Amino acid sequence: MDTEVLVVGAGPTGLLLACELALAGVRVRVVDKRTTPHRESRALNLHPRSIELMDMRGLAGRFLAAGRTVPGWQFAVSLKRRLDFTALDTRHPYALLLAQVRSEALLAERARELGVEVHRGYEAVAVGQDAHGAEVGLSGPGGPVTIRSSYVVGCDGGRSRVRQAAGIRFPGTRESMSAVVGDFAVADHACNERARQHGVLVARLETGLTRFVVMDPRRIRTPSSEPVTLEEFRTSLRQVCGTDCGIGEPRWLSRFGNATRLAETYRRGRVLLAGDAAHIHFPVGAQGLNTGLQDAMNLGWKLAAAVRGWAPPGLLDTYHAERHPVGHAVTAGTRAQTLLVELPLTEQYGLPASLLCELLDTLLGMSEVNRYLAGRISALDTVYPPSSPDADPLTGRRMPDLDLTTAAGPARVYELLRDGRFVLLHFGEGTGGPERSSHTRAVTAHRHGARSDLDGVSAVLVRPDGHIAWATRTTDPRALRAERAEALLMWTGSRSG
Ligand SMILES: Cc1cc2nc3c(=O)[nH]c(=O)nc-3n(C[C@H](O)[C@H](O)[C@H](O)COP(=O)(O)OP(=O)(O)OC[C@H]3O[C@@H](n4cnc5c(N)ncnc54)[C@H](O)[C@@H]3O)c2cc1C
Repeated sequence: MDTEVLVVGAGPTGLLLACELALAGVRVRVVDKRTTPHRESRALNLHPRSIELMDMRGLAGRFLAAGRTVPGWQFAVSLKRRLDFTALDTRHPYALLLAQVRSEALLAERARELGVEVHRGYEAVAVGQDAHGAEVGLSGPGGPVTIRSSYVVGCDGGRSRVRQAAGIRFPGTRESMSAVVGDFAVADHACNERARQHGVLVARLETGLTRFVVMDPRRIRTPSSEPVTLEEFRTSLRQVCGTDCGIGEPRWLSRFGNATRLAETYRRGRVLLAGDAAHIHFPVGAQGLNTGLQDAMNLGWKLAAAVRGWAPPGLLDTYHAERHPVGHAVTAGTRAQTLLVELPLTEQYGLPASLLCELLDTLLGMSEVNRYLAGRISALDTVYPPSSPDADPLTGRRMPDLDLTTAAGPARVYELLRDGRFVLLHFGEGTGGPERSSHTRAVTAHRHGARSDLDGVSAVLVRPDGHIAWATRTTDPRALRAERAEALLMWTGSRSG
C-alpha cells in the first residue's frame, strides 16, 4: 500500500487518529513495536467529552455497553468529595469506567472495520523528512525497513522516539514523587471504604479485577524505575490504611511518577505529535488518555485535508495552536492537583494540609466550583481561539448535541457528524445552504429545547470534531450568504463547502 500517513504507536491516540484518517479516505498505516496489545490497563475511564467524541462517530453504544458509568470522578484522591459530572450540560453526564485494554480493543475493532492496517513488531528507530515527505526507519521482524509517507505522526507515548528524532524538545519538571498501582483478582471488598478514607484509590474494574493505587509517605520518593514487589505493596497498604485489604497474587504491579512535560511544538514540518508523545503528567484526575483522544480528533480531519490537498492555508498549523494550550492547561492543572495529593503525605512543609483539603471539599460542594472544575476535567469546556476578534461568541466552543427536526426526520447533531464531514446547520426556512459539496453536509433544521446561548442563532458551521467553526445571528439572507461563503472558504477552502 502506498502510505499517505504513517502513525507510529497503536495506543488509544494512534488508533483513533488512524480511524479518523481512514474515515476521510486517507491511506494510513499504523506500526507498533509491541508484537501484541497491552494486557494491563493504565487508564480506567473515559470522561464526558471523550464519550461525546465516540457518539459523533456512532461508537458510544459500543463503549457504554462494555463499561459501567459512574456519576463523577476524583479531582484529587485526598479530597472526600468527587467532581459531579451530572451537573454538566451533556447527553453523557458521567465517567465511563472502562479499562484501557478494552478501549484499545474497541478502537482497534473500528480501525479494522475502516480497513486500517496495524503492523505489530515494528519499532520506529529513525525519522527524516524533506520538502515532499517523511521517512521512518523501522526495525521489524524481518530486519530494517523504511516507510515513506507524506506525514508521520508520533503517537508513541511519553518516551516518543519520533519526538526525539524530530528534535522536538520536551521541557517540564522531573519526577519528584511516585505511587504504586496493583490489579488483584482477590481482595477483601469490606476494606474498600476504609482504604478510600485513607487516600487509597480503589476501583472494581469491569474485568473483575480490583485496582489499588497507593501513595505510602515513606515510599513516595522511590524512583518509578524501581520495580514493585508484592511484599512492598502489602506493607504500604498496611502502613497507609492499617490492613492489606486481603489482596492475593497480583495480575499487575507497577510504579509511576509525576514527571510533567509538554512538547515545545506539536508539529515540525511533516512530523506531528499526539497523546503522551506530546504531554505527560501524573495521572491525577484521569486525563492522559482522554486528552490523547481529543488530540487525535482535532488532528485527524485537518491532516486528511492537508493530504487530500483541500486544506486552506494554515489549517494544519491550527492543530498546534489549538491543542498546545490544552496540553499546557492539563499539565499545569495536574501539577496543582498532584500537590493536593502530595501535601497530606509529607510533613516537610509543616503545614496542616488537611485544613486545605477540608476547605477544598467545602468549595467543591458549591455548584459553581463543581461546574468549573468538572467542566475542565471532563474537557467539555475546551474552547479553541476564535478565528477573528469579531466572531460570534459561540465560535471555538463545542457544539451541543441538539435534538433537531430535519427534512429527513428527527436527528441529533452528533448523528449528523458520523461521516466526519463539516455540518452546516441552518435553523429555519429560507436560509438553505449549498446544495452539493464535498466536505460539508448542509442541513436545514428546526431545533428543540430552549438554550439561551443559541438564542437568535440562524446558522452554524460545525467542524468534524464537533467544535463550532462559525455561527451567525443574521437573518438577512444576503448577509447570511456572504458570511457563510467566507466561513466555508476559511475552513474548507471553497465558498460552497
Ligand atoms: C497508573 C496510570 C493510570 C492512568 N490512568 C488514567 C486514566 O484513568 N485516565 C486517563 O485518561 N489516562 C490515564 N493514564 C494515562 C494513559 O494511560 C495515557 O495517557 C495513555 O495511554 C496515552 O495513550 P497514547 O496512545 O498517547 O500512548 P500509549 O498508550 O503509551 O501508546 C503508545 C504506543 O506506542 C508504541 N511505541 C512506543 N515507542 C514506539 C516506537 N519507537 N515504535 C513503534 N511503536 C512504539 C507502544 O508500544 C504503545 O503501544 C494513566 C497512566 C498511568 C501510568
